[in-house]
Formats: sequence, C-alpha cells, structure tokens
Amino acid sequence: CATASVAAQPLENADALIDSVETFIFDCDGVIWKGDSLIEGVPETLELLRSKGKRLVFVTNNSTKSRKQYGKKFESLGLSINEEEIFASSFAAAAYLQSIDFPKDKKIDPLLAYLLTAPFYEPVGNMSHVLITCMPRVFLREQERIYVIGEEGILIELELAGFSYLGGPEDGGKKIELKPGYMMEHDKDVGAVVVGFDRYFNYYKVQYGTLCVRENPGCLFLATNRDAVTHLTDAQEWAVVVGKPSTFMMDYLANKFSITKSQICMVGDRLDTDILFGQNGGCKTLLVLSGMFSLHLLATFFLNFLVSVFTMS
Ligand code: PLP
Ligand code: CA
Repeated sequence: CATASVAAQPLENADALIDSVETFIFDCDGVIWKGDSLIEGVPETLELLRSKGKRLVFVTNNSTKSRKQYGKKFESLGLSINEEEIFASSFAAAAYLQSIDFPKDKKIDPLLAYLLTAPFYEPVGNMSHVLITCMPRVFLREQERIYVIGEEGILIELELAGFSYLGGPEDGGKKIELKPGYMMEHDKDVGAVVVGFDRYFNYYKVQYGTLCVRENPGCLFLATNRDAVTHLTDAQEWAVVVGKPSTFMMDYLANKFSITKSQICMVGDRLDTDILFGQNGGCKTLLVLSGMFSLHLLATFFLNFLVSVFTMS
C-alpha cells in the first residue's frame, strides 16, 4: 500500500466527479460483488452512470474465470454487462502473449538463434543460461507451448487466442523423486509459464514450471496478478505481471476504446492493486469501503505510517 500515494478526499461532490470523466473502470470483488453476493447500491449506480452516457468497464485480477464466465456471473447477479466490457487477468495473460506475437508470425533469423544459444551455452554453462533466460524474448519458435499453473479461465482465454497449452488444474503430474541430482522430464518447447490462482496447486506443478523457466532458453514467466492472497515472494519479483496494478490492462483498454486516461475514473477497494492501477495510468481514482479496506483499516495504516516516520527520525 505504501506505493499508492493517497492524497485522498471524501467524495463530497459526486456530480462533479461524474461530469469530469467519460469512463469508469470498476474493480469487481469488493466493489460490484463480495464472493457471490451483489453489493448494495451497485445496480442503481451503474444505471445512473449509463444514463449519463458514461462508458463502463469491469476489471478483475481473479484469473479463475474467462470473460464469458464472468458475463454469466454478472447475469446471475441481475446485471446485464456486455462481454466486451469485461477484462479479467486470465484474458490479460492471453492478450499479453498476443501483444508480443507469441508464438505466431515470428521470423527467426537462424544465425541470431544460433548466436543466442549454441556457442555460449556449452562452454559457459549456467552463466550464459542465466543471461539468456533474463534477456527479453527475442525469438519464439513456431511450436512453442504455454505451461499453465492456474484454473480454467486462463485455459479458455489461451485457447480463444489460438495458443496451445499444457498443465492447468487437472495436472496431477507424477510423484516428485527426492534422489539427489534427479531432474524430471519436461517439455523443451514450453516458451512461457503462466501462473494464476490455482486451487489444485501441487509441488509437481511448481517443479515443472520452474524447470521450464530455468531450462528453456528465453522462457517467459508471466503472473496474472499479485494480490495478497496469492502474493509472490521476492525471489519471483521478475515475473511479468499483467493484472492490476500493472499498466498493461490500462494501456490495452485505453487503446481498445480510444479513451484518454485522464478521462477515466478507476473505482476499487484496494490501494495496492486498484488505486495504484489508476494512479499508474494517470487516471482519477475512487476508493470504496465496501471491500478490502474499511475506514478502520485505513486509519490503522495511517497510524502505522506516522509511527514509522517518527521512529525513523
Ligand atoms: N484473485 C483471487 C483468487 C480472488 O479470489 C480475488 C478476489 O476475490 C482476486 C484475485 C481479486 O479480484 P478483484 O480484482 O476483482 O478484486
Ligand atoms: Ca477488489
């Protein structure tokens, strides 16, 4: 939360805010619904904004469902939302891979491919491997596949985008051997590992994904989100994150709907994902207290912040 600088003011003049923007981006959990229950006042608020000609967009970091599945969730809550208005981090992962032309249409210069792998790899061993895997992806082969640690939403969106994948919730894998020096077999054509929330998570998946990222030259490591419930450790800081607060979805939306970012108000319940997402995009932001952050929690953060300032000085 420390990274979202809050010069927050209570919303006294809602009309002025509404008039000053053309698009409202709504976070979902904690703003539209809580679990499977609709939050009070949401239908009326959306109707009011629509009647004023505002564009409404819904963004969720929860990668377990596809856009179509979220469309059904909105419908089950009595809200009629067009699929085109929904952006889940499952979709963001597929859109990101498409934005880097993965794996189609990549013309690999055979000489470049050779220079990047063969000559350094053998003599310098691990070091060159580290260099290669840390480099931005400069070549991607036709047959590359994506290994998924995550649920159905990611699989559906990858398939819609034309990617082939392996892994996913059903991947029970094999028992991991504990013999020294043992390395399990893995697919050398995995060119990206996508990680999202996975209720069927197991050690086999971790080991398989790690092997792909470590052993396949240039293998991309993509995370759908970093919400505290699924917080990545410091060792995984270098994953490319596509959900909020990363700017990827904001850029995608602004481009898709030709919106000027200063004309957007991002409505969310979390400082570290939603509000930072809006701030990173240069949008107006509105924190609601219906979800993660209560006034009490905000006051606690503020007090902790004051204590840390005074104890440091
Ligand atoms: N990821 C998971 C697994 C969740 O359950 C949730 C919230 O329910 C989120 C992410 C955050 O979702 P949102 O961005 O809609 O608040
Ligand atoms: Ca939320």
